[in-house]
Amino acid sequence: MLDQKITDITRVTKDQIAALARLRLFTVRDLLYHFPVRYEEPGMSGSVSTLVHGDKVTLYGRLIKVEAKKLWKSKRAAAEGTFEDSTGRVRVLWFNQPYMAKMAPINQPIALKGVVAGKDRPYITNPEVEPLSGSAIPEGMFATQDTDNTPGGLFPVYPETKGITSRWFYHTIKKIFDDEMVLALPDPIPEKIRTLLHLPDVYTSLLHIHLPQTKKSTDAARKRFAFEEIFVIQTGKQLERLENARERAFEVTTDRTRLAQFVRSLPFPLTNAQERAVTDITADFEKPHPMARLLEGDVGSGKTAVAAATAYAVVTSRPKGRTSGTLQVAYMAPTEILATQHFYSFIEYFKEIPINIALITGSGCYKYPSKIHRGKPTPISRTQLLKWVKNGEIAMVVGTHALIQKKVAFKHLAYAIVDEQHRFGTKQRKALAQKGDATPHFLSMTATPIPRTLALTLYGDLDLSVLDELPKNRAGVITKIITKEKRAEAYTAIRALLKEGRQAYVICPRIDEPDPEKEMALRAKSVTEEAARLKREVFQEYTIGILHGKMSSNEKDAVMKQFSEGSIDVLVATSVVEVGVNVPNATSIMIEGAERFGLAQLHQLRGRVLRSAHEALCFLLPESKSETSRERLKALEKTRSGFELAEYDLQLRGAGDLYGRVQWGVTDMGMEALRNPRLIEAARSAAQQVVMDDPTLLHKAALAARVAASAERLHQE
Ligand code: ADP
Ligand code: MG
Repeated sequence: MLDQKITDITRVTKDQIAALARLRLFTVRDLLYHFPVRYEEPGMSGSVSTLVHGDKVTLYGRLIKVEAKKLWKSKRAAAEGTFEDSTGRVRVLWFNQPYMAKMAPINQPIALKGVVAGKDRPYITNPEVEPLSGSAIPEGMFATQDTDNTPGGLFPVYPETKGITSRWFYHTIKKIFDDEMVLALPDPIPEKIRTLLHLPDVYTSLLHIHLPQTKKSTDAARKRFAFEEIFVIQTGKQLERLENARERAFEVTTDRTRLAQFVRSLPFPLTNAQERAVTDITADFEKPHPMARLLEGDVGSGKTAVAAATAYAVVTSRPKGRTSGTLQVAYMAPTEILATQHFYSFIEYFKEIPINIALITGSGCYKYPSKIHRGKPTPISRTQLLKWVKNGEIAMVVGTHALIQKKVAFKHLAYAIVDEQHRFGTKQRKALAQKGDATPHFLSMTATPIPRTLALTLYGDLDLSVLDELPKNRAGVITKIITKEKRAEAYTAIRALLKEGRQAYVICPRIDEPDPEKEMALRAKSVTEEAARLKREVFQEYTIGILHGKMSSNEKDAVMKQFSEGSIDVLVATSVVEVGVNVPNATSIMIEGAERFGLAQLHQLRGRVLRSAHEALCFLLPESKSETSRERLKALEKTRSGFELAEYDLQLRGAGDLYGRVQWGVTDMGMEALRNPRLIEAARSAAQQVVMDDPTLLHKAALAARVAASAERLHQE
C-alpha cells in the first residue's frame, strides 16, 4: 500500500500531477511524509458571508480597490477598500494608515487578517494583508463545511505550491487513514530506541501530524519525525563509514624527518591547528582502511598548506612492491581560477621535489616542470597529459571538474583532495574517488564553518579536523556597520584604498523570490544597475566589473581573471564571489542589504578581503533600521570566528538561513532539529547502535528503505 502510486488511490487532475511531481511526491509513502508547515486555529478562517461582529478572522480572496480617505468626524487619515471572496464583498478600513491605499496589492490573491467591526453592516478594521503566491488560495480555508473539521479543530496547512491545495492534502490523507492497512505500517525507528527516548510510534505520529487532535500530540509527532529524519541520515552515514572501513587502503609511509624538512621549506611556519591536521591525516595514512576526512577551516586558515604537506607524504611514497614511480595525488577545485591558483601554489611548495605536477581544466592542460624552461610550467595536449597520468609519470594532478571526466585514469591514485567540497555534488566527489583501481585516501576541504550539529549529521561518515586558528601575520579586517547617511564616507574610505592601487568588492543585496529563475534575473538586474550607478556617481575614474549567477561559467571566469590581474578595480557582484576566490590585492568590501544575509555568509564574503598583509575594510549597510538586525550584525564586528557566527545564526534565525538558500537535502523540520544538540547526539548514538547490532539492516527493512530514500535525496542536492 505504501508503495502504491498516489494516482492509483485517488483521482487527480493534470495540474495536481504536475504539482505533486514538483514536490517530488509520487507514492503514498511520500504523501504521508509530506508534513504540514503549520496549523490554522479554529474559528480563525471564515468567509465574507458569515462574518460575526467582534471575531478575529482570516479571509482568503482579493482586494478590488483601496483609496485614501479623510474620516468625516475626526478628520483622521485612513484608507478604505473593498475585499471580495467567493461568498461576497466586504468593506475594509485602515485607520491612520492612508499609505495602504498605495501599498495594498489589488486583484491579487491575499489572506486578510483582522477584526470584524460594525454591527449592522460588518467591515474589517486594520487588517494585515498577506499576499499568497500564484493561484494558491487554499480553498480548504473557506472551510465552514463540517467535513473539513479535523478531530481537534486544527486545520493543517501544507507547503504552498501552485495547483494543489491544503484541502486536497487533508482529504487525500484522511482517505489513506480510512484504510486499515496504515495500521500495519512498519516503523523505521526500532522499538528499543522509541521506548528509550519516549517517542510515539509511526502510526500515531502520522495521524497526529496530519489529522491533528491537540497541540501537544501534534508537537510530540513533529519531534518524533525530526528525530527520525536525523536518525535516518545518520544511519546512512554510519553504514557508509562501515563500508569504507572494509576497503583496503594504499600504504603511505610517511618519513617524519623528511616531512618535517618539507614543512620547514614552506615560506611560513605552520600554525598549531595546521600541525594537528597534518598529524591527523598522516596518522590516517597508516591505518589499514582509506581515510575519509573533512578539513574544516575558516577562510584564510591555510588549508592548502595542509593539503600540500600531506600530499608530500604521498608523492614521495613508492607504490607497493615497486622500486620506481610514486603514488599519485588528485586535487579538485570548483573553478578554473582556483585550480590554476593552486597549481601555482603547489609548484612553489614542491619546487625542490623531483616530481611532475599537472593542471587540467576545460580550457587547457599544463605540466611542470617544463623541459625547456626549468622552473616553469608548459602547455601540453590533453592526450599527452592523460597518457602521463595513466602511466603514473605525473605524481600530482590539479584540476576542475575536468578531472572526473571518463577518460581520466590514474595508475596509483592514493590520495584525492576536494577543495570547497560543498560546491561539488556527492556524485562528483565519488567519481573522483573512483579514478584509480582502489579507494584512495580522501580529504574534503571546506571553508564553510558549519555548526557542530550540522557537521555531525551531514558528515557523520567523515572524521573531522578543524583549523580554528588563523596565521599570525594577518593584518585583519575592520568591520563597520554603517547607516545609509554615512554611505558617502564609506565610499571615501574605499576610494583612498583604490588610490593606493588596491581593489574593492561591492555586494548587492540578496533577493528572495520563490521562483529561482526570476530570483537570478532580479539579482542580475540589481548588479547591473548598481554598477552603472557607481560608474556614474561614485567611482567615475575606475573600471567597474560585474559578476552574477546569470552569467555563464566562462563569462564568470573571464571576469574573475580580469579582476585578479587588476584590470578591473571594483567588482560589483552578488554573493557568488563568496567562495574561495583569492585576490590578495582586493582590500575592501561593501555589503549592501547586509541584514538579508546570514552571519556565516557575511563572514564568507568578508573573507574575500582577508587575504593579504594589507589592512582590510568591510562595510555592512543594513537596509532596515531594526534594532534586532543591528544587534545581529554587531556579532560580525566582535568576532572573527566563522564557527561562532554559524552557531549564533543557527540559534537566532534557524539553520535554513545559514548560507542563503544552500540546499543540504535536509527538510525544514530536520533543520530545526539542528538547534537541539541533545536530539542530534541521541540520533547519532542510536544510529551507531543500530548499525553495530545489524550492519546490513537485514532485520530493519523499514529503516533500510528510509535510509535508501534519504541517501537519494541527499545525493540529488
Ligand atoms: P584557505 O584555508 O582559505 O584555503 P589558503 O590555503 O588559501 O587558505 O591560505 C591563505 C593564505 O595564507 C595563503 O596566501 C597562504 O600562503 C598563507 N598561509 C597559509 N598558512 C600560513 C601560515 N601558517 N602562516 C602564514 N601564512 C600562511
Ligand atoms: Mg582554499
